[in-house]
Amino acid sequence: MPAFKYKQKCSRCKKNYVIVTWKNKFPLCYDCQKGGMQGEITDPKLKKLLDIPEEFYHENSFLRSIKINALRYGSLSEKQIEYFQKSADKMQKEKEELQNKLSPETKFNLAQSPSEKKGKKKIKLPKNKSTS
Ligand SMILES: [Zn+2]
Repeated sequence: MPAFKYKQKCSRCKKNYVIVTWKNKFPLCYDCQKGGMQGEITDPKLKKLLDIPEEFYHENSFLRSIKINALRYGSLSEKQIEYFQKSADKMQKEKEELQNKLSPETKFNLAQSPSEKKGKKKIKLPKNKSTS
């Protein structure tokens, strides 16, 4: 059963999109949450659990919220640990599958894709302040 995913704007900065996988009225982006994710986990069991690639936290707001809880309360419920592990495992598998899909042939084709060179005329575009 595929997880229900959708994108929503961060409810704090209203700038970054957050991928929401469960009902969450106030999704927060990585940038807004990273402050709460700093600190030392003292429980060795939790420390091991939370020791996943930082990019997983970037992509998954659920993992972020668990880490913040662990830092704030120093402990997690069994359910939280279970779901965290499942989500992290799933992401790990998805990453591996994605890597396997990129066969050497695909990589070759990507490298060979022609990069069209356009005329020498340079067109100055007005600077757009809204782009970051
Ligand atoms: Zn934000």
